[in-house]
Amino acid sequence: MKITKLLVANRGEIALRIMRTAKEMGIATVAVYSDADRHAPHVRFADEAYHLGPAPSAESYLRMDKLISIAKSCGATAIHPGYGFLSENAEFSRLVTASGLIFVGPSPHSIQVMGSKIAAKQAVAKYNIPLVPGMETPITDVSVAKVRAAEIGYPVLIKASAGGGGKGMRVVTSEAEFDEQMTRAVNEAQASFGDAAVFIEKYISSPKHIEFQVVGDQHGNVIHLFERECSIQRRHQKVVEEAPSSCLTPEVRAAMGADAVGVAKACGYYGAGTVEFIVDDQLNYYFLEMNTRLQVEHPVTEEITGVDLVRMQIMVAEGQPLSVKQEDLAMRGHAIEIRVCAEDPANNFLPDIGRLNTYIRPQGPGIRVDDGLEQGMEISVFYDPMVAKLITYAATRQEAIDRMRRAIAEYQITGIQTTLGFCDFVMQHEAFVSGKFDTGFVAKYFSPEVLAPKPTTEQQEAAALLATMLQDVKTGAVTKSTAQFNGASNTTSAWKLRAK
Ligand code: ADP
Ligand code: ADP
Ligand code: MG
Repeated sequence: MKITKLLVANRGEIALRIMRTAKEMGIATVAVYSDADRHAPHVRFADEAYHLGPAPSAESYLRMDKLISIAKSCGATAIHPGYGFLSENAEFSRLVTASGLIFVGPSPHSIQVMGSKIAAKQAVAKYNIPLVPGMETPITDVSVAKVRAAEIGYPVLIKASAGGGGKGMRVVTSEAEFDEQMTRAVNEAQASFGDAAVFIEKYISSPKHIEFQVVGDQHGNVIHLFERECSIQRRHQKVVEEAPSSCLTPEVRAAMGADAVGVAKACGYYGAGTVEFIVDDQLNYYFLEMNTRLQVEHPVTEEITGVDLVRMQIMVAEGQPLSVKQEDLAMRGHAIEIRVCAEDPANNFLPDIGRLNTYIRPQGPGIRVDDGLEQGMEISVFYDPMVAKLITYAATRQEAIDRMRRAIAEYQITGIQTTLGFCDFVMQHEAFVSGKFDTGFVAKYFSPEVLAPKPTTEQQEAAALLATMLQDVKTGAVTKSTAQFNGASNTTSAWKLRAK
């Protein structure tokens, strides 16, 4: 059934991203918004917009009943959940369909199976997909788990079955720590995900995170659109992603791709999804989990394949068979994405909320900026602190890196701290440039000292003042110690560092 009007049950950059494709397909768009997003770009872009409720997600973007009743009353025929929020909620998928609307996403069954890391492992084990050594059942008896941990060998990871967003994981380095970490993991899992089930996995030291984009239709066809390498992470969360991965051989790529399709088939998957693997330095790979939604980093796949993944999602949801076959797909060029987040890399990547005093996007060849904010807007405390995704595309990896450095230099953001400077550090680091890096990159190479702070407005004003003062020192108007006391020497060195 053709989708004529689409409600996007999300906000920010992903709401805009989805509506843009809908518009290209001649589909009318409906936005929803909370009190915090009244003036957001996604609201203005849509053909129609409806208010959901107060800023907290639980009272707005997570209100299944309101979303469905708005869709019904405005004549929308489908709902796209985006990522985050209700995108991996099996009940929402079921309710949307039950109310006679099309859910642009997988079936409740697929979401349910893959939403539990334990159920996912059990489902794919039957298809001979390599799994990280560990338990495929929840820990019910700690003494049994300890025996298994000893067999696998320490360190092990205690993981929440319902975990996501890099949360709910505890490394255990020896049996002596097991009980304490177990208690913490169970409490965290219950508090964060409302599900106390935890299991253990071998902790692979310094792996790569490599994931495959898959798309299935409602007629049993599943294809993959190659891989994304997402090993540059902080807090087990991605900051830099690229496609293709510089370490895979054609043989390993083909094997992983086939296994990713197998994982999708194991849960009768249709729609767009991502099968995540961790890969060791011998290129042994292990299934980690499947995300049953459009992924934050999907643009890098779109750049190298020329496929619009949102268009594919919509066509699949309409019941159309996939228009491309595996053999029709090829990778061309190289794409890199960085997540521009409102956080302070110098302060443990803690969120740094505030106002976008200056916000000027980079432009020019090979640059794509997916964002949902404008200059003067506030970064809300209520939602994910991602400001934008900056994507570069070029013929080769090195050119994509050079282009990213140029784009980062062009990007002007003041009023908040961002990950831009950190990403520039990554782009010029020898390990990243050579492709020899893993998920340990941040721990191994990064410390706040390597960052040259971008001058803020205050710093620029201070620098101007400093220049005057130094002039005064030279002319004997103030003593040198006064200038130092005022922080002059520190500021000078920070500026020199940046110039290097
Ligand atoms: P990716 O799409 O690469 O998996 P993330 O892991 O950062 O990206 O998650 C995508 C989005 O979904 C982010 O906005 C993240 O905060 C959110 N998210 C994912 N899983 C959960 C979860 N279980 N609980 C809360 N937020 C989540
Ligand atoms: P989430 O649902 O939070 O995305 P994942 O299972 O995908 O959880 O793991 C997130 C990240 O944590 C991975 O990308 C990887 O960096 C790290 N990780 C997960 N499992 C392991 C493991 N067994 N050994 C080493 N690192 C792991
Ligand atoms: Mg994951």
